[in-house]
Amino acid sequence: MLSATFYGVRGSTPCSCDSTREFGGNTACVLVEVPDEPPIICDLGTGLRYLGRDLDDRGQSNGFAATALISHLHWDHIQGTPFFRPLLGEGATLEIVGPRQNGSTLETEFTRFVRPPVFPVAIDQLPGDVTFRDATDEVIQVGSATVQCFDVPHIGPTNGYRIDVGSGSLAYISDHQQPMDGSLDVADSLVEACRDVDILVHDAQFDHEEFQQRSDWGHCTPEYALELARRSGARRLVLFHHDPGHDDAWVRATVKRIQGAAGTDVTIIGAAEGLRLESGN
Ligand SMILES: [Zn+2]
Ligand SMILES: [Zn+2]
Repeated sequence: MLSATFYGVRGSTPCSCDSTREFGGNTACVLVEVPDEPPIICDLGTGLRYLGRDLDDRGQSNGFAATALISHLHWDHIQGTPFFRPLLGEGATLEIVGPRQNGSTLETEFTRFVRPPVFPVAIDQLPGDVTFRDATDEVIQVGSATVQCFDVPHIGPTNGYRIDVGSGSLAYISDHQQPMDGSLDVADSLVEACRDVDILVHDAQFDHEEFQQRSDWGHCTPEYALELARRSGARRLVLFHHDPGHDDAWVRATVKRIQGAAGTDVTIIGAAEGLRLESGN
């Protein structure tokens, strides 16, 4: 069994205001838990700060050890890192897994983001210990979970992940460039990576009209997410990476529209802060 708890569901930039309160304004961060094992964190966006607060409240901050699977290095996926409370205590460890960088390493690129003058301290000055692992198109083991890291079309090196434990599975594709002509062609490699997955968390940033205006911004329509869910046989599709310009009514209407298109094949869910899903029961 695994569970997924959503702490940040927004793409691009945080947006905290009344009109986004239902689904939430923090950027990408999803906690994946397998009972009695260290947690896996998908992306380190601003939602991470609230995950840190929850861990503190649960008394799980001390001696904290986790693995983070980051999709890529755009701000909305890493910005929460220095605000993650467990890293402000001695003894905490966080291994960050992410895509190989062109001519560089994940560590080199990531640490450029957390150091003066863009942040008051460097990441290696935090009391907790952060380590890095470059992984693209390979399978790694995190506790009892098998994690498949696979390349996803976006802007710059980007990973998707599939997490399998004995009886549960989840695939995480936060940012996904749809073909710029708006067609629904999905790479066979991604269909295979998501084959029969129980929970598919997927980019759904733009509607068709917005996509036509921003076709090279690295994202896709919810219809494209549904195409992948259908072709791969995913059971539940979680529409994720909501555009910061979309209010709650927009997301609600989109979930309804896509559920209508999906029929009974796939259950459509709008990612919302605080949402918790279980797989493998
Ligand atoms: Zn993003
Ligand atoms: Zn991105």
